[in-house]
Amino acid sequence: MKVASVLIPLPVPEAFDYEVPEALSLARGDQVAVPLGPRLIRGVVAEVFETTGSNRRLKAVDSKLDDPALPAGVMDFVEWAGRWTLSPPGEMAATALKGLRAPRPRPERRVRRVGDRQPARATPARTSVLEALGVRSMTAADLARDAGVSAGVVKGLIDEGVLEIVEIAAEAAFARPDPDHAPATLNGDQAAAASALAAGATQGGFRPFLLDGVTGSGKTEAYLEAIARVLRADPAAQILILLPEIALTQALIERIAARFGAAPAEWHSGVAPPRRRQVWEATIAGRCNIVVGARSALFLPFVNLRLIIVDEEHDGSFKQEEGLVYHGRDLAVARARIEGAAVVLASATPSLETLWNAQNGRYDWLKLGARHGTAVLPDIDLIDLRAAPPDPQTWLSQSLREAIGETLARGEQTLLFLNRRGYAPVVLCRACGHRLTAPDTDSWLVEHRYTGRLVCHLTGFSMARPKLCPSCGAEDSLVSVGPGVERVEEEVRQLFPEARTAVFSSDTAPDAKAARALIQRMTHGEIDILVATQAAAKGHNFPRLTLVGVVDADLGLRGGDLRAAERTYQLLAQATGRAGRADRPGRALLQTWTPEHPVLQALAAGDRNAFVEAEMAEREAASLPPFGRLAAIVLSSENAQAVEKTAADLAQAIPNAERLEVYGPADAPLALVRGRRRKRLLVRADRDVDLQAFLRAWLQRVKVPASVRLAVDVDPYSFL
Ligand code: ADP
Repeated sequence: MKVASVLIPLPVPEAFDYEVPEALSLARGDQVAVPLGPRLIRGVVAEVFETTGSNRRLKAVDSKLDDPALPAGVMDFVEWAGRWTLSPPGEMAATALKGLRAPRPRPERRVRRVGDRQPARATPARTSVLEALGVRSMTAADLARDAGVSAGVVKGLIDEGVLEIVEIAAEAAFARPDPDHAPATLNGDQAAAASALAAGATQGGFRPFLLDGVTGSGKTEAYLEAIARVLRADPAAQILILLPEIALTQALIERIAARFGAAPAEWHSGVAPPRRRQVWEATIAGRCNIVVGARSALFLPFVNLRLIIVDEEHDGSFKQEEGLVYHGRDLAVARARIEGAAVVLASATPSLETLWNAQNGRYDWLKLGARHGTAVLPDIDLIDLRAAPPDPQTWLSQSLREAIGETLARGEQTLLFLNRRGYAPVVLCRACGHRLTAPDTDSWLVEHRYTGRLVCHLTGFSMARPKLCPSCGAEDSLVSVGPGVERVEEEVRQLFPEARTAVFSSDTAPDAKAARALIQRMTHGEIDILVATQAAAKGHNFPRLTLVGVVDADLGLRGGDLRAAERTYQLLAQATGRAGRADRPGRALLQTWTPEHPVLQALAAGDRNAFVEAEMAEREAASLPPFGRLAAIVLSSENAQAVEKTAADLAQAIPNAERLEVYGPADAPLALVRGRRRKRLLVRADRDVDLQAFLRAWLQRVKVPASVRLAVDVDPYSFL
């Protein structure tokens, strides 16, 4: 008997076995319909094998679906990713099939002329319709608008048989990029990097690279040229560019369209599902060459993937924390390895993991020199707040205020950076000292003045600002403590009433469209002072921006988790790197209470190596990543006792292992989220320990009750 092991795209732990009917010929990757309970559901064949004298009664595969089989590279990738992250392979397969879940776009109904038939009675309105239409086809609504008539006029012409309705299949056009459309002339470093990347991608075989250069050094320019060369060598080559944030995609898409004369395909959660289906189908049919996307684009069914680019590779947004927990950058490297392709991690501030791989020769290290052309990096100065603190209830020091005033007078732009949404991070009662928290979550409520609400940033819970203290009942006793971007903008407006100000955060730019609108206003010089969270710190190019003020350079350093210093360095280097990109020199001022901190000293000196060396030494001494590996286990439940019991069971069941330690169980720093109690365990292992094998062996020993959720996070980035 033939048996097929089928991955079911559902959160089920493993592949299910089904009998293969005689008449059906199946292979790995085939999409099939299989019975699950009373239903038929879509699955992907992982394996087909012969078995004799089975004593199990297996259900049979119902049928093979018309949808194309997943390529071998996707199958290998899905299974590898499942093993690496300890997630069910079926869920990984579900991610790979996501594009198929949407319907195809509906055909568009358009009108066109029927031969040269004329209306029985020609009115001016009818004449303008026929003139506006000409020999084209267009939707009735567009036609009425172009002709400046009411919809009734168009309908009348259809009823009379002068116009007819045709259905145009919304066949996705993925124009072929033209490598020679608008090439740039690269400088020496850029050209060398482009050649190395292109050679790596065309030679075949796994080739990882680090593309390392300050903001504005031309990393994008270099990888676009590499793409051109790859396409010249193989017009069917496929290239994937991953970005950490959707807000960055539009600018890159426009740049690619200008360079290659054809827009790339776009893949992320903001793309309408029918369009995503077209991209999925074009990818597996080899009809599209360049895809720009978010991390989930890694699961697309490429058939000839030659090059993956992970831009801003250091960015923590590549780590997916909800649902399937994985790191987009790490999985990109894995996909390239499986496909025998090149992968390039690009950044001005590479992660320590990536630098370590480059230092050890695992990655080819391509370095770009100074900024392109005459642009120079901004001068960075520290403002010691101890020497000259701002007045009470204000946040901008005298020197920063003066610098903003001068910039404004020159007609140039300022970016004030504060990585805190809302008006004030904490609201407390002056009478009893109570801090307002969400009812079912251990996190402080953040005051938002624009909406007049107190918001939990973790869960989205919000409430109106109460009149009375919820704890002691005192009236009008609540005070807002500390600044968020809204409060800094308020201060700026009071100081510079003539300036045009705006706030850029995930509240004022909740989606890609709103972000694009703000970025354009800034680019066109319609904003003088932009107060922004990290939403504006990345990748954007504002030609008139010459001053970056960091309101609280110490903010990220207080976090105290593994990557606090690294993240702060990266974020501040990126934020200050926004200033003076074109021919105007820029300046960055960092307000700090701890100017002697090594991170701030390295930033002020523009000395990345000094920071990296110091941070690497600390990590090495503690055998932490990249010198060791971590995995977290988070238990949560509405039932506090069940969490306690499971945590205790886990602690009892730790397998013997060397060069590995388990810390915890302990209450998570956020011990209560949405009414669920949380406990954490942390595993640290030397690099040569098979951490995943250890975790699998461990988790097999413990029965987790249905009321408890157990989440495994390999290489955790969040320690809450
Ligand atoms: P990065 O990706 O390193 O931040 P970009 O590739 O975006 O740098 O380059 C920064 C700016 O300099 C862009 O406006 C880009 O068009 C320009 N630039 C970089 N290299 C060149 C080049 N060789 N020729 C023309 N313009 C360049």
